[in-house]
Amino acid sequence: AKKSLAGGISSSSRLTSTGPDPYPLYMSSGSGARIRDVDGNEYLDYLLSYGSAVLGHAHPALTEGLARVLASGTMFGTCNVPEVELAELIQELVPCAELVRFANSGSEAVQGAVRAARGATGRSRLLKFEGHYHGWTDSLAISNRPTPEEAGPYEAPRAVPHSPGIPAGVVDDVVVCPWNDPEALKAVFAAHPGEFAAAVCEPIVANNACGMPAPGFLELLRDLCTAERTVLIFDEVCTGFRTGQGGAQTLFGVRPDLAVFSKALGGGLPLAAFAGVREVMEPLASGQVKHGGTYNSSPLCATAGVITLRHLADPAVTGRIDATGRQIMETIRRAARDRRIPCAVQGVGAMFQVVFTPDGQPTREYRDTFRLDRARYDAFRHELLLRGVHSNAYGLACWFVSAAVTDDELARTCEAIEESFAA
Ligand code: PMP
Repeated sequence: AKKSLAGGISSSSRLTSTGPDPYPLYMSSGSGARIRDVDGNEYLDYLLSYGSAVLGHAHPALTEGLARVLASGTMFGTCNVPEVELAELIQELVPCAELVRFANSGSEAVQGAVRAARGATGRSRLLKFEGHYHGWTDSLAISNRPTPEEAGPYEAPRAVPHSPGIPAGVVDDVVVCPWNDPEALKAVFAAHPGEFAAAVCEPIVANNACGMPAPGFLELLRDLCTAERTVLIFDEVCTGFRTGQGGAQTLFGVRPDLAVFSKALGGGLPLAAFAGVREVMEPLASGQVKHGGTYNSSPLCATAGVITLRHLADPAVTGRIDATGRQIMETIRRAARDRRIPCAVQGVGAMFQVVFTPDGQPTREYRDTFRLDRARYDAFRHELLLRGVHSNAYGLACWFVSAAVTDDELARTCEAIEESFAA
């Protein structure tokens, strides 16, 4: 159904690996909720560059604000005004944010937070949760690998390579715990008394089916971390400023010691931050624990952060994102019910995922990649850009919702969903 151009850079599926996968696409421009490829096809964007372009593309406030910075110089190598404004906004919005530091990407900011936790505790071992993703860096080894099987029993964790193809010597000191399993969590802490520098989690597992925390699980994690003097790190790279102004920690009312932000924070520019309690962050400020980076909080990216957070601090903006997403989630649930297609729709309005399994429950063991491919391809045919993921044993379709979706675009999206499920 799509135009397919031979030769040159084209968004035809010529370069894709297997199946009816429309990726890679070569995008050339975007405005509002729409994004265009090099062939001139237009899509409604529910990928948002993995959740970054939360206000939509080419938002006028961002375009104007960034043009002003570009015209007056972008790098000075000293403190700058926008980074201070941004730090103050983060302190205002995020309960745990007594001190703030900036980075360029989520991976770097997670690494900074872990460094701070190790510095503050004098310990090295980390606790992470099955299926949670925290960036690609080797020195952390807390990507969504290792699986619990690879990591070994939690009483005696094995040193594991970070990712396939990386020498086995490149390892880190990490214990993997099942998510939402209170007994396993208690057992892990009991097996490692006083050992963990930090426990790191995605409070909503954006990288694995948008699994929500079971009631009481984050509270238990908080209590165990407090008792063991382990730094609790919420990786809010996906949830931050998206699931309400203060992120997951305000949504669930559980306060971590440190939180990590990126994606929505920069509104589409490379910007990340980690923030938290003075006791853990202070050694970074004094230089006792090192953290740096030439481009951290450049005036350009910090300005993007200030403009984006000022918009997201308006409950009308986050309310609109949430309402748009909830209507899409409901439409998918209803269409699936009507057609008797088992699927689970998990997450919050701003960020949710559709999981296809035989009974509609997001089990670990089963991959319905056929339905996922159909869903993803059908979305593409209907000019909706989504992310589909085969990893982590789920068939997923991932949605990120921007503030730019108009009523007409929402109606078109819901129609496309009805048509896809009918087909
Ligand atoms: N943490 C989480 C929860 C993420 O989703 C991601 C990126 N998908 C990262 C960390 C790493 O961020 P980046 O890709 O900006 O390095």
